[in-house]
Amino acid sequence: MTERTLVLIKPDGVQRGLVGAVIGRFERRGLHLVGLKLLRVDRLVAERHYAEHRERPFFAAVVDFITSSPVVAMAWEGPGAVGLVRTMMGATNPATAAPGTIRGDFGVDVGQNLVHGSDGVARAAEEVALFFRPEELVTWERAGQEWVAPAD
Ligand code: UDP
Ligand code: MG
Repeated sequence: MTERTLVLIKPDGVQRGLVGAVIGRFERRGLHLVGLKLLRVDRLVAERHYAEHRERPFFAAVVDFITSSPVVAMAWEGPGAVGLVRTMMGATNPATAAPGTIRGDFGVDVGQNLVHGSDGVARAAEEVALFFRPEELVTWERAGQEWVAPAD
């Protein structure tokens, strides 16, 4: 089933010049890009984005971090895209993330773990709507997509 997910390249990934490397992994995997922008996350959006962690001790720190410097927000589609992106990101803590994953290849610290990916299909829809207006999402066909997976 085709799914849509939200990916953020967090401030550390942008500051470290890893935007191209991260986007390239999703492109090469065969996922389909339908939304892309560079933005400064405002505090209200950050608090809504991390609302599930409101009671956790690291809540203030993650909100401070995601608002500290620009991020790249993307919406990607593909078969099982939500789980596929989570697998490609690796474990939350880069210290234990497998080599070959984004966090396992580029990070060492849980607070600066480079990327965010939605953790479920329903949450993905909410997160895409939090970062993109409907008209910012583009419907298009990528040449050769039939050589990646059959259409639904
Ligand atoms: N985080 C943290 N300390 C922790 C757990 C999480 O700083 O002990 C940060 C980390 O950057 C993570 C984010 O909070 O990406 C959201 O946590 P979640 O458990 O949702 O991890 P994710 O879904 O990003 O793997
Ligand atoms: Mg999460």
